Amino acid sequence: MAKATTTPLDEIPVARRLTPSVRQQQQPSPLTLLVLLASAMVAGMVVFLRSTQHMPTGLDPLTELMPPPEADGRLLRHFAYPMAHETDLVEVVTGYRLHGDAAAAFLAMQKDAADDGVQLSLLSAFRDRETQHDLFFSVMVERGQRPAERAKVSAPPGYSEHHTGYALDVGDARRPELDLEEAFDQSAAFAWLQQHAARYHFRLSFPADNPQGVAYEPWHWRWEGSSHALELFEQAHRLNTPS
Ligand SMILES: [Zn+2]
Repeated sequence: MAKATTTPLDEIPVARRLTPSVRQQQQPSPLTLLVLLASAMVAGMVVFLRSTQHMPTGLDPLTELMPPPEADGRLLRHFAYPMAHETDLVEVVTGYRLHGDAAAAFLAMQKDAADDGVQLSLLSAFRDRETQHDLFFSVMVERGQRPAERAKVSAPPGYSEHHTGYALDVGDARRPELDLEEAFDQSAAFAWLQQHAARYHFRLSFPADNPQGVAYEPWHWRWEGSSHALELFEQAHRLNTPS
């Protein structure tokens, strides 16, 4: 019995002796397979991440991760919104554009707030589809989230109120550390908005525990002061207003 394992190599015919080493060369080892698989995954990830940056909307693999819209036309709880016409947008402060009507209302509101000693700052205004795409997907990839998770705090491209030119994010210039934080609702600016914003036709889009199911955003307000704006937000208005 011991004989089989101690057979000198020379006693095995040359052809049979060669067989194992030839087979080893033809079949990649598990380690080689693992290395190949890992390389392929890294290469795939690089392509995936690059595609999040400058791919035209609708053609990239990220958009394909999205579920289909719901029966009421919403996608992951957000309503679809058309882009504002370029000609309707005016610059409120450098880099921030709003629909002319909303811009005038915001500036009037900002001035009156200042007279009351409250400094409203504009943190975000009109956003086009490409900007929203980057905002939605880059953070999603960075945080390793699924679209549904990301959509709780950010609208998918094509579904943001910011597309309309009527929505804006407001901060308290004296409390920049509260910018885009839930705790903004503890600021003097928020208290002032709660009391006065309706007079300028601004409404908080996503109050705490809103029926739409979007995270509480005390900084995000939309303007509903014209029939055009009212029409755009009619569905959201109806869903979020208790009858
Ligand atoms: Zn916003």
